[in-house]
Amino acid sequence: MATAATTVRTRLRKNDMVEVLTGKDAGKRGKILKVIPEKGRVIVQGVGFVKKHTKPNPQRNIKGGIAEREAAIHASNVMILCGECGKRTRIGAKRLADGRKVRVCRKCEGVLDK
Ligand SMILES: [Zn+2]
Repeated sequence: MATAATTVRTRLRKNDMVEVLTGKDAGKRGKILKVIPEKGRVIVQGVGFVKKHTKPNPQRNIKGGIAEREAAIHASNVMILCGECGKRTRIGAKRLADGRKVRVCRKCEGVLDK
């Protein structure tokens, strides 16, 4: 059965500080390097390293060896860290007096978008 592509909504954005909730990297904190909205995944700095073995290919100037790079993890496996209260939090939304829509911490109401 073909399943329709579901866009996973995430309110996370690049440069958000997050904490990993599950997996071998649970408890690790890092900055979001990239958000992949169509997959609902994020790439967090220093989290979810995968080792990639590459064969040397002189014609394409590729050196062999093991390269480590961050793998995308599902957005539901991370939680944003509030810069105001320092806690893991859920993201709320608020409209500021100047009309700007910002994301806020559900715990302390601190603005997450600087
Ligand atoms: Zn907060």
